[in-house]
Amino acid sequence: MFFCFDKRAFKSLEKEADKLAVAGSDVDISWIELMQRVDIQVNRLRQKTHGLTLPVILYGHKEADFIVSILACLVLNIAFVPIDISYPQKRIDKVKRQLGKGLLVDVLAGSIVAFGQGESAIQDNQNDPLSYIIFTSGSTGEPKGVQISASNINSFISWSRANFSLSANQVFMNQALLSFDLSIFELLNALSLGASLVLMDNKTSLDAALFKTRFLAYRCNVWVSTPSFAFAFGVDKAFDAKHFPHLLLMIFCGEVLPKKLADLLLAKFPSLQLFNTYGPTEATVMVSSVQIDQALLNRYEQLPIGNINAICHIDTQNPGTFEQAITGELLISGQSVSVGYLNANNDSFTVDKQGMRFYATGDRVYQQDGKLFFVGRKDSMIKYNGHRIDLGEINHIIEQLAPISSVRTLPLERNGRIIRLVAFVQTNDCNAEVINAHLAPRLPNYMIPSEYVFHTDFPLTHNLKVDSRQLLKQYMDF
Ligand code: AMP
Repeated sequence: MFFCFDKRAFKSLEKEADKLAVAGSDVDISWIELMQRVDIQVNRLRQKTHGLTLPVILYGHKEADFIVSILACLVLNIAFVPIDISYPQKRIDKVKRQLGKGLLVDVLAGSIVAFGQGESAIQDNQNDPLSYIIFTSGSTGEPKGVQISASNINSFISWSRANFSLSANQVFMNQALLSFDLSIFELLNALSLGASLVLMDNKTSLDAALFKTRFLAYRCNVWVSTPSFAFAFGVDKAFDAKHFPHLLLMIFCGEVLPKKLADLLLAKFPSLQLFNTYGPTEATVMVSSVQIDQALLNRYEQLPIGNINAICHIDTQNPGTFEQAITGELLISGQSVSVGYLNANNDSFTVDKQGMRFYATGDRVYQQDGKLFFVGRKDSMIKYNGHRIDLGEINHIIEQLAPISSVRTLPLERNGRIIRLVAFVQTNDCNAEVINAHLAPRLPNYMIPSEYVFHTDFPLTHNLKVDSRQLLKQYMDF
């Protein structure tokens, strides 16, 4: 059996109906059970929506019923909004306000409740209905809702099939939170193939022994994660082909893949297919990929993020240079590009004369030998342990505190990796306890700075802007 995302229905019902479909943190369910649970949830949701196109917040963690509810929403052609239980309440309230009106499925409690009044903010498009909205960090202090439609999903599934050897016999490990678009990779591919999906909850992901036991027990053989998550395993002596004979495919995305990690993994798993991939949530998970092998490792100082393809374009209107190569902003075109953010500034999305949609990623890249290389960001967005953070959002929320006039949160790096966030705070009268108490209900843990440095006046550049370099330098010199 499998789930056809195009038709939004289960197919080949008689085939391998007893096979494992989803191993949740709570229960394992077969394909036939998955279909039965989805049917029940479709009916429950239908009774609550009264035929309206309401968005549905799915609030939970890694339970099998989280996946059930996702499929139920898709069957009903209504957009799901995945929110992990680690989200602070005030941030969830912001998401609800942006959605206007909708339903909230509490996966753990099994309840469905309505929220909001008046109109839902979702635009009803019968030709290409919205499938999900993922909220990411936004520079204005509001999370940004990236809207992904049915055609975006179909395009991503086709892209995945063309780029990786995936099959129904595989067992996909799902580690990233369901509220991040990286986990959409396993969700769409495992379920559209009729394969098995093994969800790893946070407790398991944070405990190497638990993680390995579960990974081996289910014979997982497709690994998709950020490089940060895999780092701990890369140096683990018992993480190799001898102990993990089934692991044949590892796909990385979301941040720079360090050569050191790729090198370690290829040495430990000689038959491994290892891919570096790239993509923003705004273009449905991934848009470029490249297989990393020994020849590539030997050839380049820095690993490419993909092979040049028809949908990735380098905008060289304001060119820069990186070593020898010309850099420009990466623009993505085509069917995988989102219709835009919900209720937010959509300047980074454009449509050309032929009607083709483009998304300007804010990533600076260059090309060499038919491959794309990542240089850095144009703005204040960073990746910290795989999490996407707009530093402007942290600054904005700290600046809500009255005695604080200005904030610059900056990443502290060691050996090319961000090791912590330091917030530089301009104030005459505030302390870390007050700021932490203000942030805890408003930001996820990973966005809360590990240190605050207080200044009565910030150093300024010649143009009278806050001199962030100087702030960091003073901090390092101290
Ligand atoms: P997200 O929307 O969370 O998937 O984050 C997308 C951003 O992550 C991109 O715009 C890049 O800045 C960064 N990113 C994604 N993949 C890679 C990669 N392979 N190497 C470097 N940065 C990446």
